[in-house]
Amino acid sequence: MSELELSRKHSEFMEQFLRFIAMRELRYPTCSTCGRILSFSERLCVQHPRGAIEWHLASGRGSLRAVVEYRLQYVASMPAPYVVAVVELKEGPRLVGTVTRPSLNAIAAGQAVQAEFDAANRLIFVADPDQGNRGNFET
Ligand SMILES: [Zn+2]
Repeated sequence: MSELELSRKHSEFMEQFLRFIAMRELRYPTCSTCGRILSFSERLCVQHPRGAIEWHLASGRGSLRAVVEYRLQYVASMPAPYVVAVVELKEGPRLVGTVTRPSLNAIAAGQAVQAEFDAANRLIFVADPDQGNRGNFET
């Protein structure tokens, strides 16, 4: 695999992740050579950069590691205020996402959350999951 091919593989990582999200699936990456769970920021196994990435269906369960409330509206589809959090998935990788429930002042770091998908297929996290709008998750 050439350096250009390695670079292309690296840049396809997020596109692949977003294709799964469009199918209402939250998946996390592992190295097919050593099986190590990769963080979302790694995009390649540092020990096996030419190895394939395998994507596994996540449980959707996680915990809030950091929470911030946005009081400015940046896009029309996200009226302020809203909460953005660093979520650590049960499987280990961390990602940044929007927390939509319960009320803003009831959310705190360390709290358990469940991934869901909203009506626009956006990945969201909730602290009080309902079963009506979940998407596909490992059980
Ligand atoms: Zn590896």
